[in-house]
Amino acid sequence: MDLILLGPPGSGKGTQAQMIIERYHIPQISTGDILRAAWKEGTALGIEAKRHMDQGNLVPDEVVVGIVRERLKASDCSGGFILDGFPRTLPQAEALDITLQEMERGIDHVISIEANKDELIRRLTGRRTCRNCGIMYHITFDPSQSEGICDKCGGELYQRDDDREKPIRARLQVYEKQTAPLIEYYRKKGLLRSIDGVGEIKVIFQRIIDAIEE
Ligand code: AMP
Repeated sequence: MDLILLGPPGSGKGTQAQMIIERYHIPQISTGDILRAAWKEGTALGIEAKRHMDQGNLVPDEVVVGIVRERLKASDCSGGFILDGFPRTLPQAEALDITLQEMERGIDHVISIEANKDELIRRLTGRRTCRNCGIMYHITFDPSQSEGICDKCGGELYQRDDDREKPIRARLQVYEKQTAPLIEYYRKKGLLRSIDGVGEIKVIFQRIIDAIEE
């Protein structure tokens, strides 16, 4: 099953992707995670990407398209994948279509997770991420057991530079302008499944399962 998770920053794509992995045993491809890992490793790509990310802007299309094209060739994607945070622009969506055609496969569902702006800002400003395994917490809604420490791996929790108020507003604007048009793009293709992203994590996950399996 080839899936795309679409939705503004803070809509819960990463959290839901984790649950989809457990249920369907397909890997998550998060371009944000890949770019952060590249920065952590100190590669030229990572350093260049961080400049855009810290401002809340998108990394150039050709960079992320190249990353995803390579990643899709890996053997663990043969039975399906979850794209999380990609595509984010129309040119990325078109490049993905071409890549998948070349691979003689295609997207099965595009899950669009929706949430209002106030909710997104509340979630993003309180978000803390594990430096080691990337799992996310929220200081109020989903705190770790021991402050600043990841329950799962013991890694240090930190606030991403782009999870501060100014870059968050920029990211939400970028989403509206550049990514939201993809909703129509996939609706026209008959692939779009819109999900209410407000509520309990498990309930939202059930909505996704229902949309996939209906
Ligand atoms: P995320 O972890 O998905 O919220 O992504 C964090 C940041 O990484 C974004 O604000 C962008 O700067 C960059 N990024 C991630 N995915 C993409 C993409 N598909 N296209 C362009 N930039 C991206």
